[in-house]
Amino acid sequence: MRQPTRDIWTELEPHLADVEKPARYIGLELGAQTPEHAPHKVSWLLTYPDTYEVGLPNQGLQILYEILNERDDAVAERSYAPWTDLEAVLRRERIPLFSVDTHRAAGEFDVLAFNLSAELTFTNLLNCVDLAGIPVRARDRHGDHPLVAAGGHCTYNPEPIADFLDFVVLGDGEEAVGDITEVLREWKAESRRTPESRHNVLRELSHVEGVYVPSMYEVDYDGPVLKAVRPRYPDVPAQVEKRTIADLGQWPYPRNQLVPLTEVVHDRLNVEVFRGCTRGCRFCQAGMITRPVRERPADQVRTMVQEGLRRTGYDEVALTSLSTADFSGIEGVVKSIVDGSSDDPTSCGNVSVSLPSLRVDAFTVGIAAQIQKARRTGLTFAPEAGTWRMRQIINKLIREEDLYGAVDSAFSQGWRRVKLYFLTGLPSETDADTLGIVDLARNCVELGKKHNRNVQVKASVGGFVPKPFTPFQWFGQNTVAELQRKVGLLRDAARGSRQLQLTWHDPKATLVEGLMSRGDRRLGPVIESVWRQGGTFQEWSEHFDLALWEKAMAEAGLEPDWYVHRHRTEDEVLPWDHISAGLHKDFLWQDWQDALAEVGLPDCRWTPCYDCGACTGYGIEHVVASPVPPAGGSQGTGQDLMRGTGVPVALTTKRPVGVGTP
Ligand code: SF4
Repeated sequence: MRQPTRDIWTELEPHLADVEKPARYIGLELGAQTPEHAPHKVSWLLTYPDTYEVGLPNQGLQILYEILNERDDAVAERSYAPWTDLEAVLRRERIPLFSVDTHRAAGEFDVLAFNLSAELTFTNLLNCVDLAGIPVRARDRHGDHPLVAAGGHCTYNPEPIADFLDFVVLGDGEEAVGDITEVLREWKAESRRTPESRHNVLRELSHVEGVYVPSMYEVDYDGPVLKAVRPRYPDVPAQVEKRTIADLGQWPYPRNQLVPLTEVVHDRLNVEVFRGCTRGCRFCQAGMITRPVRERPADQVRTMVQEGLRRTGYDEVALTSLSTADFSGIEGVVKSIVDGSSDDPTSCGNVSVSLPSLRVDAFTVGIAAQIQKARRTGLTFAPEAGTWRMRQIINKLIREEDLYGAVDSAFSQGWRRVKLYFLTGLPSETDADTLGIVDLARNCVELGKKHNRNVQVKASVGGFVPKPFTPFQWFGQNTVAELQRKVGLLRDAARGSRQLQLTWHDPKATLVEGLMSRGDRRLGPVIESVWRQGGTFQEWSEHFDLALWEKAMAEAGLEPDWYVHRHRTEDEVLPWDHISAGLHKDFLWQDWQDALAEVGLPDCRWTPCYDCGACTGYGIEHVVASPVPPAGGSQGTGQDLMRGTGVPVALTTKRPVGVGTP
């Protein structure tokens, strides 16, 4: 039988003065809910397996929090990973993981649902499950234990964490959580939960679109080679399709964004303007798995901004998406937000606007001028690679002129700081490509100096990790030594410029990210071993410990080289082949071949369909308000596009078109 409700707050409160940042654990934010639990309501604990500061702004978690609490048959609360100081207190005082909303013990919920957006948080997932008093392995849980679930981008290859999860939600959660709640309602009503009833409800969940139940599948290996992941029962789908909501306009959430009492990352109003991206950058898992593009109506964006600013008191709004400058009518929306003197009834007055993800070829003087009317925040662009050859390979078809035009627009409108994101370790990268990163950044500094002597250009360089469901999923990742050598090249080249600041990610952490990204179920014991040896908060450089991972891999008899640095062949069974993000595997393979041939692929939003599978398979379409691309830039065609015209290329086949060097 379930334990009666414990008053965790009374137990916790005397210890909060002893930990760093107690505000992480008290709840009470504007927008927080105090849901009433009831025997007929399925209770969800939505958990972010990192600190409160990182987890609170997560939009996915906030959206589900509201949607579930609006239902008559569900309640949802939130939890975050306790920092190491509070964890020590919880373990010493035998206090379980708790919700921040009503300080209810995590083990009393029906579902513990994790948002997994970074592979290095996997050990934190185990830590949270253990702190909740739940066995970390799904097979050791009995009828009364909560179900442990996960969603988020990392779950598109759920196999490394398959042993720890009862079920996985693939894709958009808005509709899926309702369907899951309906299945769990009946399970909850059972007076006595047995191992059989747990098995039965999981089997039932495997029939819900977008839900993957790892225990319903068996895995065959032939030596080190994966042969197949097969359903154990005939009614369980051989391939699990992701869930996609067709119309974002029907889901204007969160309506009541949480306003924290303490500092968090992205501390501002966030309004999602569209979901999906079809630019087709070949390294970009987010773009591939969230296709097709679904824009929110511009009027709805304005209303959400206006209402959100009024309700929260924020004076900064971020228009979020994977590539916000691609949003149809972006200039008009920004104008109506910042232009306090406008007749526009939706105008919001003197606020600052940030566009966190900007394609340089869609960023124009017009947008720069609109944003600079408000207070300026830093601008970030992501050219990703240093040379045109490399950008053709990764299909980030922006030319140097595009970048310089965008940076010039920004500096001319008064910005002083620009941040540039790059990757190194990309397929077929040469030292000339790597060094092109510093050339581009230096040229941006020179451009800036024409407008202001004190400009700053920050180049941030990450090691490339091939991800599932991208054309680069077959590529063997660079070794730590090779990435370190490339970072050394860049550091030497960047020396001597005060206005150019170079930062880079730790290549050792890149190795572990690569291991988790494309691993299989044999990595479960490795993750468990690292966690048991104290390896939590691996996302945090001060806690990351490669030695723990190497030791655990050696103990499991597994080779990091085999998982991370090896190129895959076309016929190889990949650990995520039984999951579908809609993309045809042969489309991805062809795109990988095109990459190696340095052939680009245009954005299908404004060109004929090349049948990647993401729309056709689900009978849905892109929802784009404008029939033409936004102003400026090459838009993937390698040619200048005049504002308001159609795409000046004719594409007659469904296959990629070559893009010549401009
Ligand atoms: S523009 Fe490229 S990098 Fe950005 S989200 Fe789209 S596909 Fe990904």
